[in-house]
Amino acid sequence: MKSSSSGKCTVVVCIAALAAGVLSTWGMLRASDLSMEAATLACLPTLLLGALGICYIVRRRAFDDAMQASLRAQLDLAARHAASHERSKRATEVAADQFRAMLEQLPAPVIAVDCGDDVLVMNTAAQKFLHLAPVARTSALPHALASLLATTARAGDGVRRSRDMSLALSEGMLAVRVDCVPMGELAIGVLIDLTAEHEAERRMGDFVAKASHELRTPLASIRAYAEMLEDATAIPESERRQLLTTMLTESDRLSRMVDQMLSISRIESGIARIHAAKVDLCELAAESVLAMRGEANAKEISLLVSPCAVVATADGDRDMLKQVMLNLLSNGIKYTPAGGTVTLTVDTDHLARSVVVQVSDTGPGIPPEAMGRLFEKFYRIESYRRLAKGTGLGLNLCRSVIEQLHGGQIGVDSTLGMGSRFWFSVPMERVGRIAA
Ligand code: ADP
Repeated sequence: MKSSSSGKCTVVVCIAALAAGVLSTWGMLRASDLSMEAATLACLPTLLLGALGICYIVRRRAFDDAMQASLRAQLDLAARHAASHERSKRATEVAADQFRAMLEQLPAPVIAVDCGDDVLVMNTAAQKFLHLAPVARTSALPHALASLLATTARAGDGVRRSRDMSLALSEGMLAVRVDCVPMGELAIGVLIDLTAEHEAERRMGDFVAKASHELRTPLASIRAYAEMLEDATAIPESERRQLLTTMLTESDRLSRMVDQMLSISRIESGIARIHAAKVDLCELAAESVLAMRGEANAKEISLLVSPCAVVATADGDRDMLKQVMLNLLSNGIKYTPAGGTVTLTVDTDHLARSVVVQVSDTGPGIPPEAMGRLFEKFYRIESYRRLAKGTGLGLNLCRSVIEQLHGGQIGVDSTLGMGSRFWFSVPMERVGRIAA
């Protein structure tokens, strides 16, 4: 603004100088008798100055216009750059928001950190898993976890790192596997709870220990009796027969135990398949009672079956369901003292759309402290061991067959000293149900 007004001033002064030169030439010509050439010569410096000034101004204007045009072009370019920078900054922010939202949606606990030890994302699953409020720095995370995340983020080698670790949390120790994935200067850690895996390993260890103990017991007695029989002459005939009978019983128990162990592990590992068909449980009950009649008579137990008042048809595996019935009946007969009664009842529960089978006995009942453990592998009530031989696997197998393979339920009610009632229920036959 200032330069343009000073430019205007210069133009006025130059034009004034030129006009003054012309006027003074004309004045001189009028006032004196100077010739035209002499007057022009006298005013020449003023005229030249004015002309030069005008030339300079014209050139200067052209230069200013060019400068302004170039300045305007540069400003345009800068504005375009600024707009594109703003656009890419916005795009980066949107991508970062989407990245955060995506990690937040994941059901697995996830933590993302950068190489400057800032925690960029700690999703809700991770907060719950670690019992922590969102943290801003890795130093607020458990040490082993923070160190693995920071190492992966800083390494910049694109190498994925995975480590099992125990984290000391306010709630206690937590076994976790951390899978760290590098992404540029970030590291994304996925946390996997190992509690269930460790629990399964512990249970497997327990099972192997109990199984080898339970298998060794009959094996040891068979071996001991075999050694005694080696010197057969020193043993009277009646005792020899007794030893042989015990050996046979023990080897039967051994093979039953191995069979039950195999069946349980096939069901637990998901290999076992049921041959589902329409099964009349009233018919199955009559067959089972018939099969157990001899055992009950031998022990002077009254074995009863309540008449079926309803049609009780289920979808299931006939052989497996019969095996469960036989197992419950056999237990009733085994643990009920002579003179007692074992009763089998089949009924339907239309509300739950299931068929319910019950085996009641007048035996010793179940001590309250044993109620929650009866269906565990190898669990046997210590004081009842002398009442009958067993494997401690029968009820566990029954539970696997009913709950895992038939989607049913199994349980027991008992009053100590008054007897027990074992029951199971399986879904009623459904029209159109597909056999497995
Ligand atoms: P077992 O081969 O030892 O009978 P089970 O798994 O069938 O194995 O039963 C586990 C334990 O439950 C038995 O050892 C026994 O102590 C107890 N039990 C099962 N049925 C009865 C019952 N009807 N009355 C009393 N105790 C029972």
